[in-house]
Amino acid sequence: MGEGRMKHYSADLVVIGGGSTGVGIARDAAMRGLSVVLVDKGDLGSGTTGRFHGQLHSGGRYVVSDMESAIECARENHTLRHIHSDAIEDCGGMFTLLSGDNPAYADQWIQKSQEIGLPFQEISCKEAFRREPRLSPTLARAALVEEGSIDSWKMVWGAVHSAQAYGATVLRYHQVTDMVVTDGTINTVICHDLRHDEQANISCAYVANAAGPWAGKIAALAQCFDVDVVCGRGVMVAMNHRLVNTVINRWVWPGDGGTLVPAHSVCIIGTTDVVDDDPDHLAIPRVEVEQMLDSGEELIPGFRKARALRAWAGARPLLHDKRVADDDTRHMSRGMSIIDHEDRDGIQNFVSIIGGKLSTYRLMAEKVTDILAKKANNHALCRTASEPVPEARAGSYYALTSRFKQREIEGKRSSSHSSDEDSLDNQIICECELVTRKMILDALSEDPEASFDDLRRRLRVGMGPCQGGFCSQRIAGLSVENGFCNAAEATARLRDFLARRWKGVMPVAHGQQAREMALDSWIHDNTLDIPDLLKNQ
Ligand SMILES: Cc1cc2nc3c(=O)[nH]c(=O)nc-3n(C[C@H](O)[C@H](O)[C@H](O)COP(=O)(O)OP(=O)(O)OC[C@H]3O[C@@H](n4cnc5c(N)ncnc54)[C@H](O)[C@@H]3O)c2cc1C
Repeated sequence: MGEGRMKHYSADLVVIGGGSTGVGIARDAAMRGLSVVLVDKGDLGSGTTGRFHGQLHSGGRYVVSDMESAIECARENHTLRHIHSDAIEDCGGMFTLLSGDNPAYADQWIQKSQEIGLPFQEISCKEAFRREPRLSPTLARAALVEEGSIDSWKMVWGAVHSAQAYGATVLRYHQVTDMVVTDGTINTVICHDLRHDEQANISCAYVANAAGPWAGKIAALAQCFDVDVVCGRGVMVAMNHRLVNTVINRWVWPGDGGTLVPAHSVCIIGTTDVVDDDPDHLAIPRVEVEQMLDSGEELIPGFRKARALRAWAGARPLLHDKRVADDDTRHMSRGMSIIDHEDRDGIQNFVSIIGGKLSTYRLMAEKVTDILAKKANNHALCRTASEPVPEARAGSYYALTSRFKQREIEGKRSSSHSSDEDSLDNQIICECELVTRKMILDALSEDPEASFDDLRRRLRVGMGPCQGGFCSQRIAGLSVENGFCNAAEATARLRDFLARRWKGVMPVAHGQQAREMALDSWIHDNTLDIPDLLKNQ
């Protein structure tokens, strides 16, 4: 760490973790009038939140196995539609029973759904095929549910902008390295500012641990030991096309690869569930990728012929449940576990939250903030369910055509004014995701130190078929040309970005995608003198 360099902050509450859970707590506490500092060792949504499947749950997946989670999902589904409309595509969901699947499960599902009032509508197979013509011809039964797909980064940034509007401070790339505990109270959270190699000390009255799969490690820093967080690793694969326009769930007891989610211009098949011990280095085993492609093929014949873009893995933070075997993550509760360390460890001002789902993040945050507010003698009511985040105030859902529409409007505007500056602003930098030069420059002006991966999370650059092969060079050029960094730094950012992209492409690199990657590799090797990325994987 840089010698002698130290920053100081002070807040009522420090929230550790900038995934959905942490930003939810920061927003809720700030809205109730607490001063808040949120810290994350990386970018917002770079943990499990940015590596999930994208499904806005209706509750249907859990209605037989975990009724409480199903009820929470159903309720929060409606709330998220209201407060995060800009981050949700209202594509609907369908449960599909194929011949050979156990029909008794669907009957039980219907009975339980009726019991808890979970909205669904059974439809004929003819209607199911009208909606989704690519479904397997072995379809035997289908039901519609109120599902959608969520863009987790839009959601997280929406919640953060709301928290900031209520005075919260957000420190990205600040890793918590220690906590000072005196007489059963944490009074300082110590962070390492990774971008500037400085120490940051945050004096505080309360601490919320929302570090997801890392929550056990954070708890140990506050002398709260044996918070046994198990990582349930899930592998997912993104296909190059939207093979479906509805979230398709296999109508069976929750298992591997049972769900296909349309997300932006792709669709995602997932997921596996295998215990892993290191959330920082999750494996993407080829065998699990193949398993996902097989599951897709069962739902949509011909699935394997489509081009697989990339695979990735996320870690479900699950509190170790003594009722099931150590490696049986599929049957560990998906519900939330909240630990008040005052009761458990005698640390009066510290609460950890583990588990849950992105779809229920707001409710999880409300429960944690209730506990903290009570400790702080704060009687303000939770308002996070009724007040939309700033970006969602317009009230309309995200649609696949949103960027086309935005581009048309900007195109018309610039042709009527027709200045050279306007047309330069509208130049497309990433063709796959329709990201313009202005969008990149605005994001860099907001965060001049942004890595290209940070830009990807904000704007989706490099998420298309070329996986950044073309746009990353243009971003490097723009960064240097506009004084955000020098050429050496731009090359380092480019190299880092491409290496991350390649990590996800390698497990699926065959057919068209392998050809694309060979082209990318050739371009970078021969024109930019970047050593062969392919060889380094
Ligand atoms: C494969 C998979 C698929 C899923 N699919 C869905 C789905 O379709 N729908 C749904 O609703 N839910 C889904 N989930 C669940 C959902 O993604 C998670 O419940 C949710 O994202 C967890 O968010 P979190 O904020 O608790 O954790 P995270 O997002 O992991 O956030 C924890 C944060 O803590 C930070 N951190 C860690 N250590 C430190 C430190 N020392 N200092 C500072 N910061 C630190 C990390 O950088 C990270 O950003 C899925 C999960 C997985 C794994």
